[in-house]
Amino acid sequence: MAGQIPEMQWAQVFEKNNGPIEYKQIPVPKPGPDEVLVNIKYTGVCHTDLHAWKGDWPLAEKLPLVGGHEGAGVVVAVGELVNDIKVGDHAGIKWLNGSCGACDFCMASDEPLCGQALLSGYTVDGTFQQYCIGKAAHVARIPKEVKLDAIAPVLCAGITVYKALKESGARSGNTVAITGAGGGLGSLACQYAKAMGFRVLAIDGGDEKKDMCLNKLGAEDFVDFTKQDVVATVKDLTGGLGAHAVILLAVSEKPFQQATEYCRSRGTVVCVGLPAKARISAEVFPTVVRMITIKGSYVGNRLDTQEAIDFFKRGLINAPFKTAKLSELTKIFKLMEEGKIVGRYVLDCSA
Ligand code: NAD
Ligand code: ZN
Ligand code: ZN
Repeated sequence: MAGQIPEMQWAQVFEKNNGPIEYKQIPVPKPGPDEVLVNIKYTGVCHTDLHAWKGDWPLAEKLPLVGGHEGAGVVVAVGELVNDIKVGDHAGIKWLNGSCGACDFCMASDEPLCGQALLSGYTVDGTFQQYCIGKAAHVARIPKEVKLDAIAPVLCAGITVYKALKESGARSGNTVAITGAGGGLGSLACQYAKAMGFRVLAIDGGDEKKDMCLNKLGAEDFVDFTKQDVVATVKDLTGGLGAHAVILLAVSEKPFQQATEYCRSRGTVVCVGLPAKARISAEVFPTVVRMITIKGSYVGNRLDTQEAIDFFKRGLINAPFKTAKLSELTKIFKLMEEGKIVGRYVLDCSA
């Protein structure tokens, strides 16, 4: 069943929140009957991983923890009950590692809402290691022709923004404002939005992010929140009406207070970013009389996963990413904290 699987592997592990993250050797885990073991070749670094290390969300996590949930690699072992994915297949470990399969939400294919969901790099060890376990029912099936480094960010960022764009109800030709467009989720959101036929209005800060959004990701306009009045500028760019949908990806509270003001009447604000201890607020009167919808969107289900991968496979998604080694995780976290990452970082997990 299994090929040459070592006893020990390299991993990034922390014992407590905000404590040291140690790059060290730990045992390779053994898959249970309904699980697969994936040799992770590349893993993206999502801002969620930084939240997990800081422990700044009101959601309990496993400690000590191996973070990470955008892992792309090769299946090296499968449990005895697994018969639809085999050794040698390419697979992805995503945020939703497993779910009960039997609750109302799972039965309705809303498995991210399952009360017993297992979360990679949060409630179970994730992809900042060379060998990671996933429930066979949930690992993403990655076609062999797809490059494992480029697909890694799709496994959280891509699925999440694709789902959020669907949840926005926008139709082709509509303007979608993407707030946090220069970050990891944002860069993929610009590409998915374009591929879905929307006009992309990107909002973020700094010239490097502006250049990426306009010249590499297909955004038609860029609003710099560090220099411009976001509400007035978005309105100017949309004939005074505002964007049909706003996808909020920023890790700061202010955009969550502002978004309804630059959303068009009958438009939808989709909240995706998860800044710690933040609140959403909007004035009641204009929200009611302009019929604004405010909603949350949380990762995606298995079909969203396959659809997001399919867009990528068809060559429609091409967001720039930078590569570093698994050993360099703390450096990447620091850059992320400072808002200096343009797009996504992908870690090469070969030692
Ligand atoms: P990131 O750090 O790569 O990107 C965040 C971007 O927001 C940066 O480019 C930053 O410059 C920008 N930004 C900050 N303040 C802004 C402002 N006022 N206006 C506009 N842009 C601003 O982070 P990421 O990996 O893309 O993750 C974003 C957030 O989404 C995190 O909180 C993460 O935990 C969350 N997330 C949610 C889901 C979900 O299912 N809802 C899934 C994955 C990640
Ligand atoms: Zn993520
Ligand atoms: Zn369930």
